[in-house]
Amino acid sequence: MTKKATPKKTKATLHDIATRTIHVGGEPDKETGAIMPPIFQTSTYVQESPGVHKGYEYTRSHNPTRTRLEECLASLEQAKHCCVTASGLSAEMLMMHLLPPGSNIICGDDVYGGTYRLFTTVFNHTHNFRFVDTTDLKKLEKEIKDFKPAMIWLETPTNPLLKITDIQAVSAMAKKAKALVVVDNTFMSPIFQNPLVLGADFVLHSMTKYINGHSDVVGGCIMLNDDHYRKELFRLQNSIGPSQSPFDSWLVLRGVKTLAIRMAAHEKNAMAVAQYLEKHPKVERVVYPGLKSHPQHAIAKKQMLGFGGMITFFLKGDIKKSKKFLSTVKLFALAESLGGVESLIEHPAIMTHASVPKKVRESIGLSDNLIRLSVGIEHVQDLIDDLEQAFKSV
Ligand SMILES: *Cc1c(COP(=O)(O)O)cnc(C)c1O
Repeated sequence: MTKKATPKKTKATLHDIATRTIHVGGEPDKETGAIMPPIFQTSTYVQESPGVHKGYEYTRSHNPTRTRLEECLASLEQAKHCCVTASGLSAEMLMMHLLPPGSNIICGDDVYGGTYRLFTTVFNHTHNFRFVDTTDLKKLEKEIKDFKPAMIWLETPTNPLLKITDIQAVSAMAKKAKALVVVDNTFMSPIFQNPLVLGADFVLHSMTKYINGHSDVVGGCIMLNDDHYRKELFRLQNSIGPSQSPFDSWLVLRGVKTLAIRMAAHEKNAMAVAQYLEKHPKVERVVYPGLKSHPQHAIAKKQMLGFGGMITFFLKGDIKKSKKFLSTVKLFALAESLGGVESLIEHPAIMTHASVPKKVRESIGLSDNLIRLSVGIEHVQDLIDDLEQAFKSV
């Protein structure tokens, strides 16, 4: 970590974030004293008389296990509210439904492939999108003036190019233009970046990744401070129905308890692997926010509390060599997704970002020799040895 987290001391942030991952929403069960929260595996709730109940009517709208998770996650992002959904993409869907049809949205030009697909093949029927390099503040300012967006959608660091946008600067710009700012904070987790504190209106996560951390759940969440939008999100969740199951919420409640130590371990390993790659003769270029060579290293240091576990590098050579490399690693599993305790490797152009047209991929630098690593928390020397034997094969 580059510096120590200094959360504002409100009730939700009375303790350090590492303590909050364990104790907020993790209180022992009042009825039995069970130290672990019960899984309320129920669809409905008995009412005393019509309309008289304990705050729960039906699990699509609310569930006590999910409520605990929402309390915990809100506290981690220093937010007033959190809405947990069945996947990261369904959280994005709810966000889009907050805007009336015909709304304009500026979105970063290098975002998660599924986000790009959602915006360009589903919500393009009702909303208007412009994809902009949000790291270029001058260009963004011009686009805001010209396009008058209702919302600016940021991913920072981006996926897979790890470009970093100045959240504070963009939020200030957006405020003047009366546009809402959403930050997809999946790559950093609440441990390394808190966009609401930097001025954003909404934070979104795919909980599938670092928050759960064990590659056994799909889930999403939105954190926010605004009471009106909170009501709207829960109304939409109830009306559309992308609610997470009680069991999956329980698994995330368990996974999140180790988020702080996992993120520290991911970062330590990723830094060592990035430094190893940077010196390697078969590597053209390494992109990792913690390296001085990263173009936005200074912004990373300013707005992030750590540099995360994701590394992108360009192998010297063509797609054949990339394929050979990817099928020779043994410890790194060749798989989509990221943020689990186990190390993963993937080829964005063929795998996660195949839904981005080749022309668009090339225009943003997402080339065929680009390889993405999600560095896990195994012993780092074993990871480096694995990469080394794969380099020898190409
Ligand atoms: C995975 C991912 C998503 C989508 O989340 P799912 O849980 O897979 O639906 C959105 N944004 C980012 C940055 C992601 O990595």
